[in-house]
Order: sequence, then structure tokens, then C-alpha cells
Amino acid sequence: MNTNKTLIKKLNDQGTLAHDELYQLLTAMDDSDAQYLYQLARMKREAVYGKDVYLRGLIEFSNYCKNDCRYCGIRASNDRAERYRLSAQEIIDCADTGYDLGFRTVVLQSGEDLSYSDDDICAIVSAIKAHHPDLAITLSIGEKEKESYQKYFEAGAERYLLRQETSNPDHYAYLHPASLSLAHRKQCLEDLKEIGYQVGCGIMVGSPHQTFDHIIEDLYYMKDFNPQMVGIGPFIAHKDTPFRNEPNGTLEDTLHLLGIIRLMIPHVLLPATTALGTIDPLGREKGILAGANVVMPNLSPRSVRRKYMLYDGKICTGEEAAQCHACMERRIAKTGYQVIVDRGDYR
Ligand code: SAM
Repeated sequence: MNTNKTLIKKLNDQGTLAHDELYQLLTAMDDSDAQYLYQLARMKREAVYGKDVYLRGLIEFSNYCKNDCRYCGIRASNDRAERYRLSAQEIIDCADTGYDLGFRTVVLQSGEDLSYSDDDICAIVSAIKAHHPDLAITLSIGEKEKESYQKYFEAGAERYLLRQETSNPDHYAYLHPASLSLAHRKQCLEDLKEIGYQVGCGIMVGSPHQTFDHIIEDLYYMKDFNPQMVGIGPFIAHKDTPFRNEPNGTLEDTLHLLGIIRLMIPHVLLPATTALGTIDPLGREKGILAGANVVMPNLSPRSVRRKYMLYDGKICTGEEAAQCHACMERRIAKTGYQVIVDRGDYR
């Protein structure tokens, strides 16, 4: 076995590697090494989750945001973004549609839109739970006080997605406005875990000024935090942001990381993201074959989908929820895995 394959086997057996070993893998993997990595990653994932792929129905309920993250198409200062917010009833209707289609998890995601009070969020979560007690509700609505997270949890939300975006403070400061800090983002993740949520963190791959050393810092942070979910996808430039001319993250780097994360955190729920499907027409299928086990079809009303434009070229903005669901089932079946009707809890 060459050095890289030996390192991949060691990662598989020990769940971690030294910094220089990870650096070697991230920077010098050839196609045959990558195929070996994906093969071991699939075996790890199948040992825990079999051939099942879990669906999360994504409801993007508002694109208003108070923050000004430099990479994001819905940043506060993008005055070309056409803003919308769904009413409580519209959000509940989306969840009902999702349930009827076979989703047993919905993800309520938005910019940091202060017009929804904690009581509003709790009322929406409780109403969805009252309709469908067996539907898991994930929130992805940004940084809040611990008391707010506690209220949402008591209302019935069980999971929370909050990518740290990068685990390096200087890189974080480069990507974000001065009002945001990595320390606070990490505190939020700790608070969520302490309350009892299944927590998802994650990063953008190839974000501007990201180095492989940063990525290794991310891998160690995630290994140590031991989240139930990790959301990673390539950075993709948006034409109305300061990063409009920056290169996108690559398919290869993202797939390598999916495989590596599966070997480092074997039980993690790992989505093949929409961003991955945007940079490559078969990106999500390739993600599943590299170790991912979750896909997140869009459940937002078709009329607003084009407005939740985090990056240029985002796919799946024209279809109805039922079409997205059927398309995803077909795509996954072609990989040899199967979409199932299940909450898809962490094991
Ligand atoms: N406001 C919530 C938060 O901060 O977690 C959730 C919404 S935020 C738009 C969801 C995710 O979109 C972010 O965590 C970020 O990783 C991703 N995102 C934003 N802009 C992106 C871009 N240009 N390319 C790829 N992903 C992007």
C-alpha cells in the first residue's frame, strides 16, 4: 500500500491522524486513494445505518437577515435580494405537505429574522408537533440566547443546525462582520448540546482565505465536539456579495472531507448538500457514495424558492415539493442506497 492508503487505513482504524498526516491526505490524494477512502467510509456508515438514506424536508421560511456575512447572498446589506417571510400558517402547511410525502423530519431554516419572536417560533413548533407527533423538527435559525434555545426545545424542537463555518478565529473574522465572533458561535453550539438537542455543526469547503491548516483545525474541532450531524458543502460565490469574484470550493475537496469525516465520526448524520449538487449535477449522489447518508430536498413553496438564493446557480428552485421528493428517491436508488420513511435519528 502507498503512504496515502496506509494513512486512510490508519484513520479508519484509529478515528484520527496527526496534523501532518491529515495534511498529506488533504493535499495529495489521487483518484485511487480517494476511491479507497470512499470504500472504507461506506463500510463505516453501513455498519451503523445500513443502506438507508434519510430525508430532511427543508423549509426556508424567511430570507430576512440582520447579519452581514460576506459570503452569503441573503446578507443584510444585499439590497438586490428580494425579501420574503412566510406566515406561521404557511410554514405549518409546508410541514403538513412534507409529512404527507413521507418526510419524518423537517428543517425550519431562515436568516436571523428578528420579526419572529421566541413565542412565534415556539407556537409554530408546537403546532407542527400537535399535527404530527412523530415528525422531528430541526431548527436552523442562527445564534440565540440559551433561554431561547431552551424554549424552542420545550416546545418540541429536537435538533439544531448551526455551522461554525470555520474553526479558526482569524478566518472567522475574515468571513464575518465584526459583530459576530467564533467564540459566541461555539458557545451557542455548547448551549444547544447541553440543553439536549441533536446538534449539527459544519463548514463551507473552499471559502475565501481557507487553508488546509484551517480545515484540519475544523476536523479536530468537530472530532472533539462530537456532533450528531455535520453539514458541509462547497462555498459558492454570489454575485451580489463582496466575494463575488472568489473561486468556488471544489467537488473533490468536499468529497474527500465527507469520507474523512465519516471515518473520524462514524455515527454522524452527514448530508450530501444542495451546494454539492449545485457544483456538480451528480454531486449529491457522489456525496452519498463518499460516506454521506442524508439528503435535504426543498419543501419551501415554489413561489419563494428563487429568493432564498444563498449563492449563484442554486438548484431545485423550480420544482414543487412532490417533484423534489420523487427526484431525490430516483437519484438515491441509482447509487444502490435507498431513501426510507423514518425520522433518521442519530444512533
Ligand atoms: N441563519 C442561520 C445560520 O446562520 O446558521 C441559517 C441560514 S444560513 C444562510 C445557512 C448556511 O448557508 C450557512 O451556515 C452557510 O454555511 C451556508 N451558506 C451561506 N452562503 C453560502 C455560500 N455562498 N456558499 C455556500 N454556502 C453558503
